[in-house]
Amino acid sequence: MQFQPFEQGIEVNGRTVHSVVDGLGAFQNLAKRYLVPEGIGTEASGKLELDLDGWYPHDAWLRAFARIAKDIGEETLFQIGRSIPKNAAFPPSVVDIHSAMQAIDVAYHLNHRKNRAVMFDVATGAMQEGIGHYRYEAVKDPPSILVVCHNPYPCAFDRGIITAMGQKFELTSRVSHEDEATCRAKGGSTCTYRVTW
Ligand SMILES: [Zn+2]
Repeated sequence: MQFQPFEQGIEVNGRTVHSVVDGLGAFQNLAKRYLVPEGIGTEASGKLELDLDGWYPHDAWLRAFARIAKDIGEETLFQIGRSIPKNAAFPPSVVDIHSAMQAIDVAYHLNHRKNRAVMFDVATGAMQEGIGHYRYEAVKDPPSILVVCHNPYPCAFDRGIITAMGQKFELTSRVSHEDEATCRAKGGSTCTYRVTW
């Protein structure tokens, strides 16, 4: 299922909300209309103002994001996903397509808090559970990477993120969806994507 939080007490950071709003382009007025009533950001001089270093309730964010997604459709969701890695900073350990795919889950947890604590501790490498994962699996035959998304975000958005992360290091890389039957957009719990190049 898309947009259903796994747990309560989770927050998302303002930068993540901003990245999605930024990716909306011509549809930015939708963001204001759905986010402000959920308590995410404020309206000033007709514009949405977000605290980039602030934290917002994850369930409210998913509710607003679900409404935005319904209005903009799958293709725009994919384009927003594609724009996410462009705005993100990555650790020096990200040097190729394999490390890039592994970094998605870390970045995801760095952008969420649980009980006021960031869900990935850079110093210890400890990760808290509660928002699902972007699981990485290297495949030998055919040479490829599987990314298994078990998280509350929408399928088309995640496909965009994975596509952009792949093309950062392998320009010809492609992403296909495996096991369509379990797809979150169809009420399933997991989307599996195969990255080839
Ligand atoms: Zn899917």
